[in-house]
Amino acid sequence: MTVADLNKYRAVLRTRAAELSQALRRREEISVEAAADAMDQTLLAVERDMEIENLDRGYKLLRQIQAALGRINKGNYGQCLKCEAEILPNRLQAVPWAAFCVGCQENVDRLQERCMRCTAAWPQPPRTDSVMPPQSALLVGG
Ligand SMILES: [Zn+2]
Repeated sequence: MTVADLNKYRAVLRTRAAELSQALRRREEISVEAAADAMDQTLLAVERDMEIENLDRGYKLLRQIQAALGRINKGNYGQCLKCEAEILPNRLQAVPWAAFCVGCQENVDRLQERCMRCTAAWPQPPRTDSVMPPQSALLVGG
């Protein structure tokens, strides 16, 4: 990877991190206002749960972006954290904060399916090798 490439990714990551932390701050303010105004406590609780989940995803993504910026400083950006193979440029363009090559990412996804899925920037292929989740999981998940 060239210095120009690194500078480009650093700029992309920094912009994304700034946008994200701004959005997260705004969301936190909105949640507080909603809590003060709302009449329906049940609905409020549901909305708050969703909001917390969204914030949680946002913060996870922010951490991944910050870790990627750290890797740029350390000099191992674009290298898979597991097998040390080079992460393909088209993957980095789609997911500049990617920490793993595609092969290792699939293994990681299998281990931590829920939390990796919510920060992934591309649609996951339907899983055919797992049993159907219970109905409640379908309603909660997203
Ligand atoms: Zn790898």
